[in-house]
Amino acid sequence: MARLADYDVEHQYKAWVKKSDRLSPEGTEEVRELVLEIDRPDFEFKVGQSIGVLVKGQQEFGNSFHHRLYSVADLPKKNGKKNPQVKILVKRCSYIDDYSGEIYNGIASNFLCDRKEGDEITITGPFGLPFTIPEDKSSDLLLIGLGTGIAPFRALVKHIYTDLKDWKGKVRLFYGARSGLELIYMNDKNNDLTNYYDEDTFKAFQALSPRPHWSDPIALDYALEQRSEEILNMLEKSNTHVFVAGHEKIRDLLDKAFINMLGSKEKWENRKAELMAGKRWVEIIY
Ligand SMILES: Cc1cc2nc3c(=O)[nH]c(=O)nc-3n(C[C@H](O)[C@H](O)[C@H](O)COP(=O)(O)OP(=O)(O)OC[C@H]3O[C@@H](n4cnc5c(N)ncnc54)[C@H](O)[C@@H]3O)c2cc1C
Repeated sequence: MARLADYDVEHQYKAWVKKSDRLSPEGTEEVRELVLEIDRPDFEFKVGQSIGVLVKGQQEFGNSFHHRLYSVADLPKKNGKKNPQVKILVKRCSYIDDYSGEIYNGIASNFLCDRKEGDEITITGPFGLPFTIPEDKSSDLLLIGLGTGIAPFRALVKHIYTDLKDWKGKVRLFYGARSGLELIYMNDKNNDLTNYYDEDTFKAFQALSPRPHWSDPIALDYALEQRSEEILNMLEKSNTHVFVAGHEKIRDLLDKAFINMLGSKEKWENRKAELMAGKRWVEIIY
């Protein structure tokens, strides 16, 4: 797995915030969609990639800048010879320091969520193409996302049904969020993904936390186990690809679900190792 320090930050580009919209309702964790205009007409990016954001360090000592990655959350907008625009989804993060017990605000996510229209930022990339759509349109795709992990899948699903068309394989999207209100791109306000519900090959399943205010885990494992037969059949096929994205909590939820579905930890570890070796299990976990 690539480390952040390995990414090229030599090539830096100026970008402006064209738009910043809060997608999650007030009273829930803040998730914003930012549209960035990049000051380079030839900056090309694809769905499945991410871009980097550089934020100046605050302290006298320590990093002079911080580099963070954000998934491309929509189809690249074809703008002719004009500057390209990229959409990203950012969750305002905070975390509790293990030693002091104090709450710290995440550096880049807070910086981005605080930017206003017209503000300038510095970006890098684009990086990687971890989620590469197979050429064979009869391939099955199992997309599993938690929280902001929906960003790359929104772009991929749009790409499959808008640009590629005639997808023959099954596309199954499992998306977990703490509450129905936090289901980005799948709630009443932002229903981007529901546009594809009429596609014969597409099905989306949502998983929520049973008691979001108690921080109960999101029942993603349960949602998967409910469709165990279909998922196991998909995994048997040699042209099924599994893409996973989101916060590191997703790893335990998936281990739990697949151990239950396959019957033992050993079977799951072997199966996952096989899928990863064949590049048919790809994950972006942060
Ligand atoms: C390939 C890749 C793609 C990514 N795509 C996205 C994306 O589309 N949207 C996005 O918001 N983030 C995405 N991230 C995570 C992002 O790069 C940052 O790690 C995140 O914004 C936190 O950075 P920060 O500087 O604010 O926090 P830091 O100051 O680095 O603090 C990190 C703390 O925030 C927690 N944290 C990080 N991300 C999340 C999250 N999404 N939910 C809950 N807690 C979190 C960490 O566990 C840690 O405790 C991606 C990461 C990678 C490697």
